[in-house]
Amino acid sequence: MKALVAEKFPQADKIKLFFGCPDTEYDHKCSSRQYAHALHLKNIICVCQAFEKLPTKNKFGIFLHEFGHILGSPDEDKADDFIEKHFKIYIAYTGRKELQEV
Ligand SMILES: [Zn+2]
Ligand SMILES: [Zn+2]
Repeated sequence: MKALVAEKFPQADKIKLFFGCPDTEYDHKCSSRQYAHALHLKNIICVCQAFEKLPTKNKFGIFLHEFGHILGSPDEDKADDFIEKHFKIYIAYTGRKELQEV
C-alpha cells in the first residue's frame, strides 16, 4: 500500500507506522471507530493495538485516509478526496462502526 502511494508521492516512502501511541489508545477507548491518526508526529501514522485485528480492507482504507491527511489535507473529507483524485480509489464508510474501507 505504501509502495503504491510512494510511486506517485515519493515523500510517502518516509512515512512510518507507530503502534501503540497512547493518544490513539485513548481515542479508541472513547470512540471505537478511532484506530489511527496522522499529523501528530512528523511522517508518522499512529495506530492503536486493536488496529492489527481489523480486516485488511479496513486497514487499507484507514491507511489511505491517513496518507490523505499527510499528503493532502487535515480536513476529513478532503483527505479522502485527495486519495480519490490521485489514486482513483474511493474510500467507503461502511458497517456498524462506519470504518474506512477500500
Ligand atoms: Zn499519535
Ligand atoms: Zn481523518
